[in-house]
Amino acid sequence: MSGKVALITGASRGIGRAVAARLAREGYAVGINYHERKDKADELVTELTAAGCRAVAIQADVAVRAEVDAMVRRVEDELGAVTLLVSNAGVAGQALFQDVTDELWERYFAVNLNGARHAIQAVLPHMLHEHSGCIVTVSSIWGLHGASCEVTYSCTKHALIGLTRSLAMELAPSGIRVNCVAPGVIDTDMVQVLGQETLDDLARQTPLGRLGRPEEIAAAVAFLASDEAGFITGQVLTADGGFLP
Ligand code: NAP
Repeated sequence: MSGKVALITGASRGIGRAVAARLAREGYAVGINYHERKDKADELVTELTAAGCRAVAIQADVAVRAEVDAMVRRVEDELGAVTLLVSNAGVAGQALFQDVTDELWERYFAVNLNGARHAIQAVLPHMLHEHSGCIVTVSSIWGLHGASCEVTYSCTKHALIGLTRSLAMELAPSGIRVNCVAPGVIDTDMVQVLGQETLDDLARQTPLGRLGRPEEIAAAVAFLASDEAGFITGQVLTADGGFLP
């Protein structure tokens, strides 16, 4: 097996799901990673295979290296070696800093940062061997800017940008590009906990006057993954409707 194979972590719902659908339409065979929502991941596989795309759903907690390694082996067996990794899986929540427990801090870092590290290290051997490949991480505007009551999340997303920029320098001589998308407020399950009033307020604070759609982040990821972005590496593409000044 050969050709374009994308692994998207956290692809059962939200942004990852839209990324997987977009890449599948562009001719990638897609590995759809999920953590708990097998139903949603299976539904997406059914939808994509009915449209003639190649897709498999694979359960793994990205925080656990052995599960990520097993997931990548399965993608390689069923679809071929991964040529594009979209490290998207993430967790978020709000808490005052004095209420942040060790468990919460460690879990956010385990998923948002170590999850990316595990996935990247698992797909790298093939990319290094081929002297080509593409990695796109999904950070956040809160990885570029501070966020009250989201210190932990913001730290993980800042770190993810550091990982992206440094890894891009390290892997460029090996022909592997590493970039990041930093979404603003996107209408997914993740932000529903904020409540409608806060979401309306965030839409008002967004110069384009609305929340973003997962498909709009998928378009940014698809661009960074494309040959059109062949000379772009180590960059953070903000897609936030103008939210950040
Ligand atoms: P979402 O709707 O909450 O979906 C999260 C996805 O991540 C789900 O597919 C979930 O899988 C998966 N996931 C969670 N923990 C996981 C784990 N330990 N291992 C593997 N998969 C895991 O979130 P979203 O809004 O699409 O966010 C996707 C990414 O964009 C995240 O990194 C987030 O930080 C970032 N982001 C989002 C926004 C926004 O406003 N929505 C803004 C900036 C950045 P299951 O469904 O199977 O549990």
